[in-house]
Amino acid sequence: MGSRFEVVEQGPPIEVFQLMKLFSEDTYQNKVNLSVGAYRDENGKPWVLPVVRKMEKQMAEDNTLLHEYLPVLGLEQFSNASVAMLIGPDNPAIADGRAFGIQTLSGTGSLRVGAEFLNKHLKYTTFYYSSPTWENHHLVFVNSGFTSPRTYRYWDPKTCAIDFDGLIEDLRSAPENSVILLHACAHNPTGIDPTQEQWEKIADVMEERKLFPFFDSAYQGFASGDLDRDAWAVRYFLKRGFELVCAQSYAKNFGLYNERVGNLAIVVKDAKLAPAVKSQLTWVVRGMYSNPPAHGARVVANVLADRQLFDEWRGHIRLMSTRVMQMREALRAELVKLGTPGSWDHIVKQIGLFSYTGLNQRQVEYLIQEYHIYLLSSGRINICGLNQSNVQYVANAIHDAVTKFPAEDDNRAKL
Ligand code: PMP
Repeated sequence: MGSRFEVVEQGPPIEVFQLMKLFSEDTYQNKVNLSVGAYRDENGKPWVLPVVRKMEKQMAEDNTLLHEYLPVLGLEQFSNASVAMLIGPDNPAIADGRAFGIQTLSGTGSLRVGAEFLNKHLKYTTFYYSSPTWENHHLVFVNSGFTSPRTYRYWDPKTCAIDFDGLIEDLRSAPENSVILLHACAHNPTGIDPTQEQWEKIADVMEERKLFPFFDSAYQGFASGDLDRDAWAVRYFLKRGFELVCAQSYAKNFGLYNERVGNLAIVVKDAKLAPAVKSQLTWVVRGMYSNPPAHGARVVANVLADRQLFDEWRGHIRLMSTRVMQMREALRAELVKLGTPGSWDHIVKQIGLFSYTGLNQRQVEYLIQEYHIYLLSSGRINICGLNQSNVQYVANAIHDAVTKFPAEDDNRAKL
């Protein structure tokens, strides 16, 4: 008898991790990594936030911190602070006991627990995600038991903006109780968010069609540099009376990528419902990973609880978001200076870590092969992979790619 495992077929690679590997193996001196969604400083290096270092040093000296299990739903102090940061500490839902949170394994774990809970206990089976969206949304929801994945239109390649009529039309035809996955801010990968007027219309349709909002907040504070501005859409939905859930991640805004620090925030209509919801979430988590890790959640909770450290952290997110915006300006300015065919205004109109450049697959392949510039085949680039020393190199390469392979069937680069 051969091996039982012979039935296992090779799975496809995950593009972003494959690119990271290729990048690390590439010996070319001027290689540039614009693929993975992680912050890099002006020297192209990962950045541990000074406030995180400070807190970790403090915690290392604290002999009262043990490695005992956390409760299944994690650190309550952390979840309370996360919910307050998301919906505003003065939001009446907090005082009413209608808003609460549970600690999760970063944003992904939060989406996963939230989706499984909605599927198991509210019997929801249809979910809608934007076209395009973060590549993991589909898999997370399908693995959670959602059997009907659908898309709503979002990005219009002709205008490099939201196809808002298409979006509204798709939501209008969604069946009642569909879960609508919405990016709270800094839409990944397009970097384009709805305007406040557009959010109002989205809420109108969702109310009318009885759709359920599942927000994904992976970039609060990182997008605009302002925690409140980046939470506007979630708070607006609450003001309108929606019940909702929201997956919060501290990977980007605290730079705690590998610590897996996240929170699932839940707001219900009546505080009486909270204990049953929490009890069932407990069983979802119990059957998945039993309880979450403590280190990152302690760091975040301690920083959020201390006025001075909190302000220091807000300084860090302002610094990161400002650097990203400066690099957007720098890339656009270089392309304009070179006279690269097309308009590149969308690069500065987009927000957050990413730009959906409009480069097509052929152009992307050329950038990787000829210039050792690594980016996703969709044309998405991580803006903070750029810095003063490489932005000219990248702009020249894009210019070469766009002129060598003009986009005939794809208008994006021409606009
Ligand atoms: N949602 C979106 C839109 C994201 O971009 C990301 C990170 N790339 C996540 C969720 C989850 O990230 P993590 O699990 O690292 O918090």
